[in-house]
Amino acid sequence: MRNLPIFLDMRDRTAVVVGGGLVAARRAELLARSGARVTVFAAELSDEFLELREKPNFQHAPRAPRLEDFAGAGLCFIATDDEGLIEAARAAAKGAGALINVADRPKISNFIMPSIVDRSPLVIAVSTGGASPILGRMLKARLESLIPAAYGRLAHLMSGFRTRVAAAISDPVMRRRFWEAALEGPIAEAALAGNESAAKSHLADEVERWGERRVSPQGEVYLVGAGPGDPDLITFRAFRLMQKADVVLYDRLTDDAVMNLVRREAERIYVGKRPNNHELPQAEISALLVKLARQGKRVLRLKGGDPFMFGRGGEEIEILAEHGVPFQVCPGVTAAIGASAYAGIPLTHRDHAQACVFVTGHGKDGRIDLDWTALLQPRQTVAIYMGLRNLEALTGEFIARGAGADLPAAIVDNATRSSQRVVVATLATLAAKARAAELRGPSIIIIGTVVSLRDRLDWYAPGAPRAEREQ
Ligand code: SAH
Repeated sequence: MRNLPIFLDMRDRTAVVVGGGLVAARRAELLARSGARVTVFAAELSDEFLELREKPNFQHAPRAPRLEDFAGAGLCFIATDDEGLIEAARAAAKGAGALINVADRPKISNFIMPSIVDRSPLVIAVSTGGASPILGRMLKARLESLIPAAYGRLAHLMSGFRTRVAAAISDPVMRRRFWEAALEGPIAEAALAGNESAAKSHLADEVERWGERRVSPQGEVYLVGAGPGDPDLITFRAFRLMQKADVVLYDRLTDDAVMNLVRREAERIYVGKRPNNHELPQAEISALLVKLARQGKRVLRLKGGDPFMFGRGGEEIEILAEHGVPFQVCPGVTAAIGASAYAGIPLTHRDHAQACVFVTGHGKDGRIDLDWTALLQPRQTVAIYMGLRNLEALTGEFIARGAGADLPAAIVDNATRSSQRVVVATLATLAAKARAAELRGPSIIIIGTVVSLRDRLDWYAPGAPRAEREQ
C-alpha cells in the first residue's frame, strides 16, 4: 500500500489553500464542510467561491502566503499554475511542518486526494495511489449508484442506538445478527424511505425484543414497478429491493432482462397468464402475498411499468393493509413515458400539446367506455394502454366523434426493449398499418400532433436500420 488511508478530524483546525480557481475552490469547499478553518491565498477568487465566502470558517487573503501563515496549519493544498508560487508555498508549508498536496502532482505531494462518496456520516474514499485518477473516479461513480443517498441517514440512526444495543444484547454473535436484521429489514427500509420516526420506534422495540430473546423474523411486501422493459430504467430503490427479496412474484409484463437482476437465490413464482390463458385471480395473488409475508419472507411483487398505473397494484396491496402486513411501493417508469422517450415523441410540447391523458383502451364486450369529450380536447396528447386489440374500434370512434382523420397517431410496440417497433400513421391509417406490421404488443398508442416530432427526434436504434424498423 503506497498511501495510508485515514479519516482526519479537521474540526476547528487550520488548513491553507493556495490558488483561486476551480480546483482550489473544490478543496476549500471540502475542507469547510469538514469543519476546518480554511484560509485561501489568491489574488482573486473565481465565481466557484461565491457560496464559500459566506461561510464563517472561510477566509480570503489576497496575497501570497508567508511562513507565519502556516503556523498551526496541519494541511496545505496548492492548486495554482504559478510555479514560483507553488515553490514558495511548498517551502513555507514544509517549514511549518504542514502536510502538502499539490493538485495533479503526486510526486511533490505528501498526500493525495481520494475520490469521495459522501453519505455523511458514511464516507467512502477511493484512491488508486495516483496510478489512474480516472479509474478512481469511475469507481466512485459506480459506488454512487450502488449506495442510496439515504444511507447517511441510516448510519446516523444506527449510531444513536449503538450503546443501547450493546447494553441490551450482550452476546456478540446475537448482536451482529441484530444489526444485520436491522440493516436489511423493515427498520432500514423505513429509514431509507424517509420515515425516521417509524424506524426509530421500530428499532427501539426490536432492541427490547432481542434483549429478551423474543425474536421471530417479520416478513414484508415490496410492490415494485420494474419499468417498461429496458433494465437500465429501473430505479435504484427497485434494484435494492430486488436484491433483498426471498421470493418474487412476476408476470408476463416482467422483462427477462429485469428478472436477471433479482437476487439469484430468490424463489420465483409466476402469477401471469397460464398456458390455459387464465391469470391467477387478483384475490389469489393478494392472498399469496399475505401468506408468504406471514412466513417471515421478503416478498417482491414486480409489476411492469409503474405499479399504480393500470396495474391493479393498488388492489393487490389493499388486503395487505387490511391484514397489517408491512409493505412499500416503489414507482417505475410507466409504459407511456418509456414509449414517449424511446420513440422520440414528447407527450407535451409548447407548439403542440399542453396536456396529456393516459387511458386504457381495454373494452368490455367490444364496447369501449371512455369519456370522449375529455379525450377530444385540442392541444392534448392521448396515450392509450391496452388498446392494441381494440385498435380499429378505437381509431374509428375517435374519427366518428370529430377528430381529424389525418391526425398523427403512432403505436410503440415493446417500448424501450431491443425489439421495439414504432408504427407512425394517422388516425385513418393506423389500424391497417399496425395489422400489416403484425405487432404483438405490449404496445402504447399515442394520438396527437406531437407524433410528427418523431421525424426529428427519433434516436433509439436497437439494432436494425431505421427503414426496417419503421413500417
Ligand atoms: N403498470 C403498467 C401498465 C400495465 S397495463 C405501466 O405502468 O406501464 C398493460 C399495458 O401496458 C399493455 O397493454 C401496454 O399497453 C402497456 N405496456 C406495458 N409494457 C409496455 C411496453 N414495453 N411497450 C409498450 N406498451 C407497454
